[in-house]
Amino acid sequence: MKIIIIGAGPGGYETALVAAKRGVEVVLIEAGPVGGTCLNEGCIPTKSFCKNAVVLDSLHEAETFGVTGLSYGFDFGAVTARKNAVVEQLRGGVEGLLGHKNITLVRGKASFKDAHTVVVTSPAVPTELPTVISSETEGRVEKSEYTADYIIIATGSVSASLPIPGADLPGILTSKEILDITEVPDRLCIIGGGVIGLEFASIFKSFGSEVTVLEYFKEILPRFDSDLSKRLKQSLGKRGIEICTQAQVTGIEILRCAQDDTTYRVSFTRKGKEETVEADKVLMAVGRKANVDSLNLADVGIEFTPRGIVVDDKTMQTNIPHIYAVGDINGRMMLAHAATFQGIVALDHIMGVENQIDLSVMPAAVFTTPEAACVGMTEEECKEAGVPIKSLKSFFRANGKAVTMGETDGFCKLIVAVESGRILGCHLYGPHASDIVQEACALITRKATLKEFETIIHTHPTLTEVLQSAVHG
Ligand SMILES: Cc1cc2nc3c(=O)[nH]c(=O)nc-3n(C[C@H](O)[C@H](O)[C@H](O)COP(=O)(O)OP(=O)(O)OC[C@H]3O[C@@H](n4cnc5c(N)ncnc54)[C@H](O)[C@@H]3O)c2cc1C
Repeated sequence: MKIIIIGAGPGGYETALVAAKRGVEVVLIEAGPVGGTCLNEGCIPTKSFCKNAVVLDSLHEAETFGVTGLSYGFDFGAVTARKNAVVEQLRGGVEGLLGHKNITLVRGKASFKDAHTVVVTSPAVPTELPTVISSETEGRVEKSEYTADYIIIATGSVSASLPIPGADLPGILTSKEILDITEVPDRLCIIGGGVIGLEFASIFKSFGSEVTVLEYFKEILPRFDSDLSKRLKQSLGKRGIEICTQAQVTGIEILRCAQDDTTYRVSFTRKGKEETVEADKVLMAVGRKANVDSLNLADVGIEFTPRGIVVDDKTMQTNIPHIYAVGDINGRMMLAHAATFQGIVALDHIMGVENQIDLSVMPAAVFTTPEAACVGMTEEECKEAGVPIKSLKSFFRANGKAVTMGETDGFCKLIVAVESGRILGCHLYGPHASDIVQEACALITRKATLKEFETIIHTHPTLTEVLQSAVHG
């Protein structure tokens, strides 16, 4: 069996590796560096910055822990260099893995010629092994064609923008560009209070910027449990991050422009009033759009909408049975692990392997300080579905480990079905929320009830006891 996979992000390359290990012949086509958005301009570089933020925050409160007389500086160039080194190290690891004998890595941009043929426009020759584009082939455009029994599209997404005056001014940053700025801005305005916007808000607040977040909806993180969103907003507010919700951004203009010193004015309306924010940098973080443009989907008849390629939610199959679409490209859940597991679901379907992955139980984390995380149904979703629930809450201020860490800001909410006693959702913010949520994810995936959870012993003192405390009240 032969499969073409287009895109070597976490959707594409992880699927390629699993397929290769199962003996499938894989042609993996990638237009940029392997690892995709996640490794090169998403999860990994941002989490590298998050670590710098944590170190700085710890230094700021060192005296609380009896460390006195500290004197330190902040070298942002070193922060960026460390981030680049982390990315390169991991990319090297992925390139090594893709050297598997069953994988042919083709460097270039793919588009469909017909439903069975993919054309790759490539600045380099296809190779059996991962290559670095050599200087002899650089600049030379070559076209090659590939056919296979099955094709998996995993071309990811790109940053979206707002159709407002000034959105395309030079210096308005995307999430990719902000990773490579050379100085920490004194004032940073972030348009969008979703996951990406809030992570950068939290990072740059720790780095010393004055941060303002403008969010169109009533709450930040609009798709999260509203109780969690409200509390996280308060928590970030306490750290000094200015968050304006119900703010409709109407335009961006350059207020002053001197060499290396541009000031922007961002205008927005809130509750019928015109308001403005001045900033030295503006980050556009209003979501991402599926990367469908270069694929020639319409000519081949692959169904897609502005949200992405339409797929069957159980198999990831498109309307053309031998073509699948996984990850951000189908717009279902723009998360790295979602892309990977959708890829495995698609592969299993192709190979006729039964799988038990439940894609509806998808954990998500926001790497702010403090972190937020969730899995399963929100209270609002349960209400909409008419499922009677009780919600059980606990607070990190009552958790022994959190108190020893001096990180007591946080809460945890478990959603439990009244009739069956099944745990349906978990929503929390606080230290290490992204790790704690994994236990709830395991319980929900295994359809565990509250009674079953109560029999599980938790190590003391650990942060995971917030889950136990929620149950015990
Ligand atoms: C700033 C930021 C932070 C993030 N943080 C997290 C996080 O902490 N956790 C998390 O789970 N998710 C995070 N994400 C989301 C995560 O990065 C994506 O959900 C994930 O990368 C999607 O994987 P994918 O394989 O679908 O697509 P991608 O990773 O986008 O990979 C697609 C690949 O396809 C290639 N490609 C595109 N078109 C073509 C073509 N025509 N021919 C050949 N190749 C092509 C691209 O070059 C790219 O390498 C973050 C995203 C951003 C932007």
